[in-house]
Amino acid sequence: MPKNIKKSREAERIVAAGGIRFLQFTALADEGLVHGFSLRQGGVSLPPYEELNLGLHVGDDPGFVRENRNRLAAALGYVPENVVTCRQVHGTVIRRVGVKQRSLGHLNYADALPGTDGLITLEPHVVLMAHAADCTLLFFYDPEAHCIGLAHAGWRGAVAGMGSRMVEAMCQCGCRRENLRVVLSPSIGPCCYQVGSEVVEAVPGRFRQQVLQQAGNSFYLDLPELQVLDLLEAGIKESNLFRSSYCTHCRTDLFYSYRAAGGLTGRMAGIISMKW
Ligand SMILES: [Zn+2]
Repeated sequence: MPKNIKKSREAERIVAAGGIRFLQFTALADEGLVHGFSLRQGGVSLPPYEELNLGLHVGDDPGFVRENRNRLAAALGYVPENVVTCRQVHGTVIRRVGVKQRSLGHLNYADALPGTDGLITLEPHVVLMAHAADCTLLFFYDPEAHCIGLAHAGWRGAVAGMGSRMVEAMCQCGCRRENLRVVLSPSIGPCCYQVGSEVVEAVPGRFRQQVLQQAGNSFYLDLPELQVLDLLEAGIKESNLFRSSYCTHCRTDLFYSYRAAGGLTGRMAGIISMKW
């Protein structure tokens, strides 16, 4: 990892509010922003989704998910109907959204934006929401252009450069890369993310040495580090880049982990919105 990337618990903290808990990041602690990354405690979902499952697409009772989403909205202080979310497909499609798209995917998965893994808005009160359980959520904020973004990337998105694609898309919306702050949510860490040859071969050659570790016949991928390298290459300043210190697979007491659960589990949500 490049030396100066902030990776300390001081730069992220667990906040308890309204009976639930979520992570907040110092890099996004701007009074004009609402943001958070949910933990799994404090919701109404039953096993195997216990407790605060925020994904409508994983087989949980939609009524439970809606109640959990309302709890997150109340705790963070946004209007739940202002949420825009998408049907994530491990792709790199990025869509700019605004007030017209509010509520898409909020109550029903069927009307979430299809085939989309990245969202950008320049409009206040629009609440971007994305979901993960081991994958990385990438939060973007340009305080000068007053623009936010949120993206989802597992290994497929990371090898395809989802982070750098978000940077380019945000620059097309008026952002400047030197102003962009980027936060990587908790995700499965290099300690736990054993990958097969399909993944190893997909990692761009120039990053391989830094993000793949071999142990016997096995390879372990440092998924967030791959995204850090991609973002640095795209011109994000090291001082504006923060990577969470948590591994979702190590900390199933706090987070959902798709891999640790064998596939059937809930989803955390990332939220970002501008108040004005
Ligand atoms: Zn781990």
